[in-house]
Amino acid sequence: MVTESLNAFEIAQQQIHEAGKYIDLDPALEAIIKEPKRVLIVSFPVKMDDGTTKVFQGIRSQHNDAIGPCKGGIRFHPDVTVDEVKALSMWMTFKCGVVGLPYGGGKGGVICNPKEMSQGELERVARGFIEAIAAIVGPDKDIPAPDVYTNAQVMAWMMDTYSRIAGSNQFGVITGKPIIVGGSLGRNEATAQGCIYTIIKAAEKIGLNLQGATVAIQGYGNAGYIAARLLHDLGCKLVAVSDSRGAVYSEDGVDPSHLLEHKQKTGSCVEFGTCSLITGEDLLEMDVDILVPAALENVITSKNAANIKAKIVAEAANGPTTPDADKVLFENGVMVIPDILANAGGVTVSYFEWVQNLMNYYWTKEEVNTKLKALMFDAFDKTYITSQEHKVDMRTAAYINSITRLSEAIKARGLV
Ligand code: NAD
Repeated sequence: MVTESLNAFEIAQQQIHEAGKYIDLDPALEAIIKEPKRVLIVSFPVKMDDGTTKVFQGIRSQHNDAIGPCKGGIRFHPDVTVDEVKALSMWMTFKCGVVGLPYGGGKGGVICNPKEMSQGELERVARGFIEAIAAIVGPDKDIPAPDVYTNAQVMAWMMDTYSRIAGSNQFGVITGKPIIVGGSLGRNEATAQGCIYTIIKAAEKIGLNLQGATVAIQGYGNAGYIAARLLHDLGCKLVAVSDSRGAVYSEDGVDPSHLLEHKQKTGSCVEFGTCSLITGEDLLEMDVDILVPAALENVITSKNAANIKAKIVAEAANGPTTPDADKVLFENGVMVIPDILANAGGVTVSYFEWVQNLMNYYWTKEEVNTKLKALMFDAFDKTYITSQEHKVDMRTAAYINSITRLSEAIKARGLV
């Protein structure tokens, strides 16, 4: 059984083992899937604003490319470790697998603190890192994207440096770019939009009417705010919201756009209108229909899982629920839409961006959303059917489906 004392890489390996039991996973296949195919660790020098030169370390992990090129973000953070990046690359394989994308998983990280860096230093780190890993990435090999503390601008710098090395424009090397240099319409809203599509499906399955359904959202950034707005548009009532400074509650519900204006003005969601102040822990345990963790990892744990009252937990964030908590939620009949399904809209529209780059033919936002909806609905249905067949939670079902798909590709290629 998976426990809260394991590190991310060990958890990912355990998850493979646990899911593998339901499909009698061949030990040779399990051994292949449990390790990344390639991990490149690089050091590169960067000229800092004060004239000194600092050496940065970065990592790129490519988990598996049996189904297609690797795909996954690059994060800039002081706490990046090799094991974390390896685990994140494995989870990307399973996320791509759940939605049926022709990708394996990749992930990258640079150990740095962007909060202490100027724009110029950030740019030089971005360019330095992509140059250092240029030999193993590319439109047909491994396609990075934004992650923690990297954004569209960082992607543009990386695409530019890679294109200079290649000697021609290579928009397809990276996704999450600004629209003007090959980005896709709908990419900014994609994670939240995909999450909403899975909530619609989950509500259908448990017979929950979204009109008037109550919602609590942890985190009011890109994923949290847009999810709030889209749920509001569907007729849900947003009763509680939190950010890093605190949480607010209103029985009558809050207007997501007004709350965003308040956050933009004051820097936080707290002290909004007549809302009462609650704690972040209270928010998670509130008696609501839908809880959307859209901020941090490991917030639903063995300590609070028994107190979760939401009927649906839609994991917009990566890794908000620990494996121990998963068990409790399943026993209590909470429908958890696991991160690798609930937030797969982001990588799905990244895939659309890459397809558009390769075709050099660009879609309208409506086309993007229609295609996203079809893939998310299909992914939810397939995961739900597997969960019913094996009598397991949706996360285990998602792993079962992804691992089955990957195993078939590895076998078809004759690698075992
Ligand atoms: P973001 O930085 O835009 O927003 C994060 C929000 O979380 C902020 O409002 C911040 O105040 C809040 N927060 C921080 N600490 C908190 C705390 N202790 N309690 C409550 N709120 C807190 O980030 P984002 O892009 O919205 O990403 C959020 C989560 O969604 C992450 O786990 C990320 O990995 C995941 N995700 C995002 C995308 C995407 O496309 N944006 C894609 C896949 C997964």
